[in-house]
Amino acid sequence: MKEAEFNVSVPDDVGGLLQEIHRRGGTMKVKVAENILSANDRVAEENSRLLKESGVYVINMMSSPGAGKTTLLEKTLAALKDKYKIGVIEGDVATTADAERIEKLGVPVVQINTGSACHLDGSMVRGALEEFDLGSLDLLIVENVGNLVCPAEFNLGEDHKVMLLSVAEGDDKPLKYPLMFRESAALVINKIDLIPYTNFDMDKARRDSLSINPRLDVFPLSCRTGEGLDGWLGWLESGINAR
Ligand code: MG
Ligand code: ZN
Repeated sequence: MKEAEFNVSVPDDVGGLLQEIHRRGGTMKVKVAENILSANDRVAEENSRLLKESGVYVINMMSSPGAGKTTLLEKTLAALKDKYKIGVIEGDVATTADAERIEKLGVPVVQINTGSACHLDGSMVRGALEEFDLGSLDLLIVENVGNLVCPAEFNLGEDHKVMLLSVAEGDDKPLKYPLMFRESAALVINKIDLIPYTNFDMDKARRDSLSINPRLDVFPLSCRTGEGLDGWLGWLESGINAR
């Protein structure tokens, strides 16, 4: 049996594909994939263009549920909201609980409820962008749906992906879920105040993360005690100022 793998778009290329199989006179294993992702990339590209024209620096925050994305957002907004104009997009499967937490800080926020989807995609963010006065913003923070897997596969039009790993999740996560670590520009390791109560090995977590992505900037911190927050805030400000 002959085997070949190539990408086709459906339905336009089906005729050509059948001809090709016939021409080669055999059965073929065909990978009809990546269509959804490439369609998303096109929308993400449009988002990116719109955001760049508006002069907004955008980060896409990703982590498993409970790592502390919303809490890090609260700490970040409290520190920077008087210095910069900041907007927030909250992605959750259900509820407006996180958007309500952000709204209390007086920052414009749009909640996206994905229903059954376990990640945000470019189109969802596109819709939310229409709710902001983009020209007035310096920074837009998108909090993705809590999930360590597929959010990393969907570009939203952000400048940088940022991921959080919390101490309670364990130091084995970089090697088990490498894509998110590979795609991110910064890694926040949250809840370091819990280290004495766990067997989390910070050196291992850092080493494994950097083995996947040597360009990763790593910020161990505790949102609860405030330890290490300055390094993270400095990184974010340099991104804003570069734009
Ligand atoms: Mg949240
Ligand atoms: Zn998903």
